[in-house]
Amino acid sequence: MCAAEAPPRVAMLGGTFDPVHVGHLRSAIELREALALDRVHMVPARVPPHRATPGVDAEQRATMLALGIADTPGLYVDDREIRREGPSYSTATLASLREELGTQARLVMALGYDAYLHLAEWHEPARLFELAHVVVVDRPDHQQPLPAALETLIEGREVASVDTLMQSPAGGLLHLSLPTRMAISATAIRARLQRGESVRYLLPDAVERYLLARRLYR
Ligand code: ATP
Repeated sequence: MCAAEAPPRVAMLGGTFDPVHVGHLRSAIELREALALDRVHMVPARVPPHRATPGVDAEQRATMLALGIADTPGLYVDDREIRREGPSYSTATLASLREELGTQARLVMALGYDAYLHLAEWHEPARLFELAHVVVVDRPDHQQPLPAALETLIEGREVASVDTLMQSPAGGLLHLSLPTRMAISATAIRARLQRGESVRYLLPDAVERYLLARRLYR
């Protein structure tokens, strides 16, 4: 098969992005490079199923995400969870991407190690692997062992290389240690803003200007 006929390679990176920070954006760029992806859809959750409702509404979080991505090649704000009613289940998001991209596309659900630890508690977790590969990005501030239910869920799925993963459209699990690992979290950024401390260089300038001008997270 020549390169022009190769199936598309697309990743979804979902999150609350409350607010987006350089840990998200740098990971998305390096994920795209590591997996040779055509694009990374960054998908803000409207109502995250597994955590308290964010204090900043979905439209504002999506606006900050768009400001943060700006003209970065290959990264896109995908607002399909905001447009959809009800809780933001990743299975529904992946199913709609799969529908658009076709059965042969290499579809990846990327998530950080902290989110991965809770994967077995998600809605229809086994279905996630029918729809996509799962790629886990290491975070320097998260190293806990896997819960038993997660061990069962991932049994027989782990592969050791990108090439092996990309031989099939879905169903594999890969751990990636991206070149730039950053101990930056939205929780710590919100706490800094609450205390009136600087968040400069933790998130893009345009995002900093946006949230300071509106006194978000104060
Ligand atoms: P919070 O601190 O509010 O939980 P967060 O910084 O973890 O937020 P989310 O919006 O919950 O951000 O994260 C979206 C996705 O990005 C998750 O899969 C998360 O693991 C991943 N992620 C967040 N921060 C980083 C980082 N610094 N490096 C790598 N992945 C990250």
